[in-house]
Amino acid sequence: MYAVNKEKAVVLFSIGKKPMEEGMNILGAHIDSPRLDIKQNPLYEDSGLVLLDTHYYGGIKKYQWVALPMALHGVVALKSGKVIEVTIGEKGTDPVVGVSDLLIHLAGEQMQKKGDKVVEGEDLNVLVGSMPPVKNDDTKLSDDDIKDNHTDKEPVKKAILALLKSEYGIEEEDFQSAELCVVPAGPARDYGFDRSMIMGYGHDDKVCAYPSLIAQLESVNPDRTSCCILVDKEEIGSVGATGMHSRFFENTVAEVLDRLGHFSDLALRRTLSNSNMLSSDVNSAYDPNYAGVSEKKNTAYFGKGVIFIKYTGSRGKSGSNDASAEYIARLRKIMDDAGIIYQTAELGKVDAGGGGTIAYIMGNYGMNVIDCGVGVQNMHAPYEVISKVDLYEAYRGYKVFLEKC
Ligand code: MN
Ligand code: MN
Repeated sequence: MYAVNKEKAVVLFSIGKKPMEEGMNILGAHIDSPRLDIKQNPLYEDSGLVLLDTHYYGGIKKYQWVALPMALHGVVALKSGKVIEVTIGEKGTDPVVGVSDLLIHLAGEQMQKKGDKVVEGEDLNVLVGSMPPVKNDDTKLSDDDIKDNHTDKEPVKKAILALLKSEYGIEEEDFQSAELCVVPAGPARDYGFDRSMIMGYGHDDKVCAYPSLIAQLESVNPDRTSCCILVDKEEIGSVGATGMHSRFFENTVAEVLDRLGHFSDLALRRTLSNSNMLSSDVNSAYDPNYAGVSEKKNTAYFGKGVIFIKYTGSRGKSGSNDASAEYIARLRKIMDDAGIIYQTAELGKVDAGGGGTIAYIMGNYGMNVIDCGVGVQNMHAPYEVISKVDLYEAYRGYKVFLEKC
């Protein structure tokens, strides 16, 4: 059984033979990724070009998000209650959009700036049109649209709005109730002469969410109830109604207990505190180009399997979920018995930086939690890279965790 939270998060259960109060085996990942969100009043024309204003989402190096083919994804909710899904830029025949960069010839001043100022957040504007209304047989414009072309201050914007109206039934005001984002366009690709890796947008954390989902779907009639939760908003702190901090997960477990005829407040608390979890999230993979940020004995490498990360956080492990030695020992036994290839790692060397996941939030219930996922190069860049072997071992590891933990 499963429950969907506002079209942004989902939790799935496969009910076990043992009472739920004895705890569940949980895989948890996030399905949001860094991106450029379209603002509520985004559309404007400047010197015959029409752009969409954005507000970036998640931690990005802004200078990486320019001069790339980008696609637009999301929904526009109309006052009528109708919700229109928009995808532009993924099909080979679709147009793409993008953010411009300054030509090197005139970038003398820009190149002197610090990295976080080279491209500033307010300048991540997406170019979507450049053509004033014209009359021809293909035009979707009405005579009225074209008539005042010469007097109109924003003729190109008017033409783009007419296009949006005819293709999607969207008015300019409808951007107010839209959730649209701009992301790198196109599918994931094999990477390397030997095709041993995959380059794609949003590996963090779809590369862990997908094998978690598949492991869950393949968990039929388990001993302990297995559960997979895929949440939103991790990249901005797991906040809000659809992030891991939301009561959605706890409430849904209560609903499941209720349907099984076992609900009580105490049963819910026991179910949660007796559970085991793998927080399925990515970790940095060693990169010879940036070797200085890793401590070689405790970093993750491509091809060495799924990664267990005992603690995350920054500085003196601040903000970390720190998995217990006993829990890790159990997982080692389960993984070794099943022949799973795994490695242990930290995100980077001490005081080099840091990061967090949803692990500590689930840890609040008193359950065993450890971060466990796939190593990534270029994390949070438009195109991230992972190793196929590591992805496969993550899938195998998640599956045996649900079966045996
Ligand atoms: Mn992540
Ligand atoms: Mn991330």
